[in-house]
Amino acid sequence: MSSEREKLCRIREVEIRYRGPHLRIERILGPAEAQAFARKVVTDHAREHLLATYLDARHHPIAYPIVSVGTSDQSLVQLAHIGSGARSPQAPVIASSPMAIKSGSYWVTWANSNAKNSDKIDDLDADFRSKVKDFIAALEAAGATVTVEATKRSEKRAYLFHWSWKIQQGKCKPSDPTTMAGVDIQWDHGSDADSKKGAKEMVDGFALAVPPASTVAPALTSTHISGKGIDMKIKWTGTLKVKNKTGVEISIPWNANANANTLLHQVGATYGVKKLTSDAPHWSHNGT
Ligand SMILES: [Zn+2]
Repeated sequence: MSSEREKLCRIREVEIRYRGPHLRIERILGPAEAQAFARKVVTDHAREHLLATYLDARHHPIAYPIVSVGTSDQSLVQLAHIGSGARSPQAPVIASSPMAIKSGSYWVTWANSNAKNSDKIDDLDADFRSKVKDFIAALEAAGATVTVEATKRSEKRAYLFHWSWKIQQGKCKPSDPTTMAGVDIQWDHGSDADSKKGAKEMVDGFALAVPPASTVAPALTSTHISGKGIDMKIKWTGTLKVKNKTGVEISIPWNANANANTLLHQVGATYGVKKLTSDAPHWSHNGT
C-alpha cells in the first residue's frame, strides 16, 4: 500500500455484504453443474457471456466475474482477460456460456449428429441385451432371418421430439418444456407465433407424425430410451422349429402378422423378450 493511501482517513470500516437474491448454489464438479450455475447468474439470454467462476476447496462457487459480454452468437475474449480477474488464489474455472439456441432446424442437424438413435444390440441395457442375444441366436439357429431396426433411443432426441411436437400442436406453452442437461435449447422465442414456427421446423425436420396420423406427442419415456426395447423383423418360410429357453423345440407356422403370432411371443417370453402386440416390430423386457 502506498504512503499516500495510508494517510487517508477511514470514515467507516469496509464491510462486505452479499446482496441480491439468494442463490441455491450446488458444488460445481463438471460441465453440467457449471452450466446450471451460469444459468442462475446470467439472466441476459440475448447475448453471449463469458463467465469465470472461482471455486473454494470444496468446489462451491464463491465469485463469478463476467469476463466479457458479446453479441447474440459470440463473445470475443483474449486469454489475458480471463486471467486478469483472477485475484483469488483459486484457479478460475471457465464456465460455458448459458447462451441457449432457439428451437428450429438447427436442432434437427444437431440431433442427427449428437443425439442419434441406435440399431445396435450392443447399445441395449446389459441384462436385456443378453436375453435378446439368446433369443435371436435361437431364431437364427432355426433358420429365421432377424433384422434389427431400432434399439436404444437417445433421451435427448426423445426430448426434442416431444416438446417440438407439443409446442407446434399448441398442446403446451412455449415456456412449459422441462430442461435437459446437454440440450441448451430455447423453446420460447418470446411470442407464440415465433415459438411455434421454430417448433414446426423441428417437427418437419424430424418427420414427426402429426394429427390425424398421430394424436399423441412422441413419448419422453419408452423402453427404447432405457435400452430395454427393440424393434426387429423376424422372417422365415414354412414352419420354424425353434428352441425355447428351456431347450424345448416349438413349431411355429409363418404368420405375416407379427402381432398375431402368439406362439412366437411365447417363445420370446421364455428368453425374457416380450412382445408388445400393438406394435409389429416391438419387443421389450416387459412387453411395453
Ligand atoms: Zn419399438
